[in-house]
Amino acid sequence: MQSKYVIHTRPVAARMKPITKTGIIAWEEGCLKCAVCVKKRCVYKVYDRRGLDARQMLDSIDNECMNCLRCVQGCPRELIHKSISPEFSEMGDGYWTPEIISKLWYQAETGKIPVSGAGYPGRFSGPGFDTMWTDMSEIVRPTRDGIHGREYISTAIDLGKTPSHLDARRMEQADLPLLIDIPLPILLRVPSFGAYGRNTLKGWAMAAKHLGTFLALGNTDSQEGLSGYRSWLIPQSSVESLESGKGRMRSRIMEAPWTPGITEKDALCKTKSLVSIRLPVADGVEEKVTSLARMGIPIIHLAAGENGESADRTPVFVKDAVRRSHLALLDAGMRDEVTLLASGGLSMAEHVAKTIICGADGVFVDLPLLISLGCKMCRRCTRGLPCPADIEGAPSSWVAGRAINMMAAWHNQLLEMMGAMGIRDVRRLRGETGRAMFFEDLDEATFGDLGKVEEGCELE
Ligand code: SF4
Ligand code: SF4
Repeated sequence: MQSKYVIHTRPVAARMKPITKTGIIAWEEGCLKCAVCVKKRCVYKVYDRRGLDARQMLDSIDNECMNCLRCVQGCPRELIHKSISPEFSEMGDGYWTPEIISKLWYQAETGKIPVSGAGYPGRFSGPGFDTMWTDMSEIVRPTRDGIHGREYISTAIDLGKTPSHLDARRMEQADLPLLIDIPLPILLRVPSFGAYGRNTLKGWAMAAKHLGTFLALGNTDSQEGLSGYRSWLIPQSSVESLESGKGRMRSRIMEAPWTPGITEKDALCKTKSLVSIRLPVADGVEEKVTSLARMGIPIIHLAAGENGESADRTPVFVKDAVRRSHLALLDAGMRDEVTLLASGGLSMAEHVAKTIICGADGVFVDLPLLISLGCKMCRRCTRGLPCPADIEGAPSSWVAGRAINMMAAWHNQLLEMMGAMGIRDVRRLRGETGRAMFFEDLDEATFGDLGKVEEGCELE
C-alpha cells in the first residue's frame, strides 16, 4: 500500500514581531497608585517583560498579551483598554484583509490550522469565493479517527493528459503520454510582485521539492542558483521558443502564455516536456480552453488577477471561469484529456477545495507565499521603496520552512473538508458541485419566481 502523504512541520518563528489585531492602551493620567496594581497581577508577566522593538517601533506588550482582559476589567479607574490596532487595520486591502494576512502568518509559523473559537463569525455570503458554500454533511465519515487515521484520503493529482483509449498495437513506452503525479493539488507560483530575492526563490524551490510539487517561475526570474531544483521548476517561455525547441530544457513542465494563432502550432504538442499554456481569465475563456484541448495541449492554466478577477469591464471571477471551462470540456467529451489549473485570488485553504469543486484539477498559490514571509501587503516594493519585512534578507531554509508549514496547514484543511464531504480522493472532488451550494442558484430557486404571474392567474 502506498505510504501516506504527511507534511511534517516544525515551528518557524517570524523574523519580525507580527502585528497583532489588538493593542493595549494604558493611561497614566488619573492613576490612583494602588498598592498592588493590576499590571502586577498579570499571570503572563506581560508588563514586567515589556520592551520596545526599536527596528519596528513596536511595543512588545501587544505580542505577549493573551487577551484574558484581567487588567482591563480590574483597574478601578478603567485606565487600561484593549482596542483594534490601527497598524493591523491598515494592512492589506479589501481582498487581502488583515485577518487573512494574520492567519497566513500563523499557519506559516506553526503549520497548524487556525481555530477561531466556537461557530463561524464571518459573513455567510459575499463576492468571489464567498458566493459558494461547501456541503460537509458527511462529517461522521471517513474521519472518525482523524484526518491522519486509518482511512487514507488521497490528495494526489495527475498533471498531463490521459488518452481517451489505449491502442494495444502501440503500447511502446515512447507512445504513452507523459503524466506526472504530485501528492498535493497545489503548485507554488512566484508572486507577481514582492521584494523577494535569490534566497527567497531558492527557499520556494526547496519547499516545492520537499512537498513533491512544482514552483512556477515568473517571466523575469532567472534559474541562477536553482540548478539542483530544476525538476521541480516550471520555467516560463514563449510559444515560439517552445515550438522551435530553444526553450526545451530539462524541466519536466514548461509554461508559455497564450497567443493568437497558437492552435496552429502543432510542434507544441511534440515537446519532451509537458507544455502548459497560461490563459488569462476572461469572458468566454471556455472557447479558448476547448480549442487548446482539441489541439492536444496537456495543461491549461487559467490565470486571474491577484484578486481572482479578470481584467474585463464586467470582471469574471476565477471560480466561474473554471466552472464554465470544466463544463465546456465535459460537453466536448475531452475533460480527461487536459489538466486544468487555476491561479489568482486564492488566499485561504478553503479556496483550493472550492476551485477544485468548480472543475480545476489543481491550483497555483502565489501571494500567500509572500505573505508567509511576513509581507504586510503594503506594496511599497511596487514603488521601489524598501520592504519593511526585509524579505530579500531572509535565509532560504527559513523561507522553505515557512512555505512548508503553510502548505501543511492547507493540506490538513483540505483533508478535513474532504473527510467531512465523504470524499477520499481529491480527483473525485473535481467538478463535484453536488458537494457545494452556489448563492446564485439558491437565490434563483428561492426568489426567482417572485413577482412573476402565471398566465391566467392575474388579479382582476
Ligand atoms: S489582558 Fe491579561 S494577559 Fe493581557 S496584559 Fe492584561 S492581564 Fe496580562
Ligand atoms: S511587505 Fe510591502 S514592500 Fe515588502 S514584499 Fe510585502 S508588499 Fe512588498
